[in-house]
Amino acid sequence: MSVTHLNCLNGAWVPSAGGETYEQRNPADLAQVTARFQKSTLADTRAAVAAAKQAFPAWARLSVYERAEHLNRALQLMKERVEAIAAVITAENGKTLKEARGEVVSAIKEMEFQINEGVRLGGEMLPTAQAGVLAYQIRRPIGPVAVIAPWNFPFNVPARKITPALMAGNTCVLKPAQLTSGAGVEFVRLYVDAGLPPGVLNLVTGSGKLIGDELVTHPDIHAITFTGSTEVGMAIHEKAAPGLKRTQLEMGGKNPLVVLADADLEAAAASAALAAFACAGQWCISTSRAIVHRSVLAPFLELLKGHVAKIVVGAGTEAATTMGPVCGEAQLKGVLKGIEKAKAEGAKLLCGGQQLMDGGKGAGCFVAPTVFTDVTPEMSIAQEEIFGPVLAVMAFDDFEEAITIANGVRYGLGASIYTRDLARAMEFVNRIEAGLAHVNMHTAYKEPQFSFGGVKLSGHGIPEAGKTGIEFFTEHKTIFIQPVA
Ligand code: NAP
Ligand code: MG
Repeated sequence: MSVTHLNCLNGAWVPSAGGETYEQRNPADLAQVTARFQKSTLADTRAAVAAAKQAFPAWARLSVYERAEHLNRALQLMKERVEAIAAVITAENGKTLKEARGEVVSAIKEMEFQINEGVRLGGEMLPTAQAGVLAYQIRRPIGPVAVIAPWNFPFNVPARKITPALMAGNTCVLKPAQLTSGAGVEFVRLYVDAGLPPGVLNLVTGSGKLIGDELVTHPDIHAITFTGSTEVGMAIHEKAAPGLKRTQLEMGGKNPLVVLADADLEAAAASAALAAFACAGQWCISTSRAIVHRSVLAPFLELLKGHVAKIVVGAGTEAATTMGPVCGEAQLKGVLKGIEKAKAEGAKLLCGGQQLMDGGKGAGCFVAPTVFTDVTPEMSIAQEEIFGPVLAVMAFDDFEEAITIANGVRYGLGASIYTRDLARAMEFVNRIEAGLAHVNMHTAYKEPQFSFGGVKLSGHGIPEAGKTGIEFFTEHKTIFIQPVA
């Protein structure tokens, strides 16, 4: 019997008013139901927003040190529960336990940084044109915020969004992805157990189309922070526009790794294999295109093949596994469809290219790590996000062509170049259309003190993390004071 989780409204764990639930299945074995969750209704969602609205004035009035105390208590519990949370992430998402632990540790680091940034959130004082007038500007919270989370980083993404939102004095309603609602439950549980005032952080689980849409259009939600697909992000932005709500959208990617002729090929191949296949290629900043100088293509592919051969595909709970399943049946079908399309368009398989069925894997959503060569820039495999363990390798002849290929997609999240030529590297980081650029490092490298967000159709609004992490969740107020005797 699997456990049935509840929503969290106004500090209490409650069932949906509609009385219905949905089940979540383990992507390593679809026969296994990991847990059940509330299939929330519009009424549940409105109740969550009402709780966030009611809690807002008192939470916003607390000093930032008092808010930090609450968050630090939740952070302490997070540190104590790393193993338990990682087990939930692996069961729902499929990533290995090592990757799941890494996700929680990364959430801890991001939370620590954002709590401290919140405490330091200052304003600005400037001289004025009027003698004797005191003038300064400060940041104020916006109000109740909707947090719509994806399934690929189901714990870290809420932490990255909710910590600065709460530190700035806002209240939140979290809607996790249906595929990974348990990570959202575990996240909110930390705060409830830490004694956060009721209504400051609420949780509703259920359909994005229904309750996600209600959050986006609800008049009492003042901002929406979303991570997910470009398609849904764009729809959210349109729906939020009539209410003049601000949106922060972290969306898809088609991240290139460019390998010049003078590159350390072994390092480049190792990076490509790591960032293309970690979490089964379901990082938003996974490497999905390797753009390689024709003169070093053959040795690069040999080295890459060697790294891919070492990948052990299996259940994330098994110690030997280095790559888990993709996250669910819909994802599996989408990845296999992308692979078939690439074959039909003339891309050549270097390795992989199929679902894995051996040793009981047929019961789950396992895809072989897949590398396509002979990919040309106009092929769908070079343009569309597959979001699975699939890498497209393209050849180029001169640097200009590499830049053109790298920039020739609608996305712009992460990008890397491997070269020993500093001038070329500098030109790449200046000209690449991406929110994160790397030299001799993989496309997914990031640190909590730096902003994280994409350009073009990969991102919109003020980026998450770093010093900009809290900005999105604040409004400006400018104050002029004329003292009179
Ligand atoms: P998705 O379908 O866009 O879903 C993301 C979230 O939005 C889920 O909670 C989903 O709920 C909800 N949602 C769906 N339709 C909605 C609607 N009409 N209104 C409001 N909310 C709605 O994305 P996904 O397939 O879960 O995630 C994969 C995508 O996320 C990839 O494209 C990946 O690149 C992107 N991603 C980007 C970043 C980044 O930082 N740039 C990070 C991680 C992932 P349901 O669960 O009910 O569908
Ligand atoms: Mg989806």
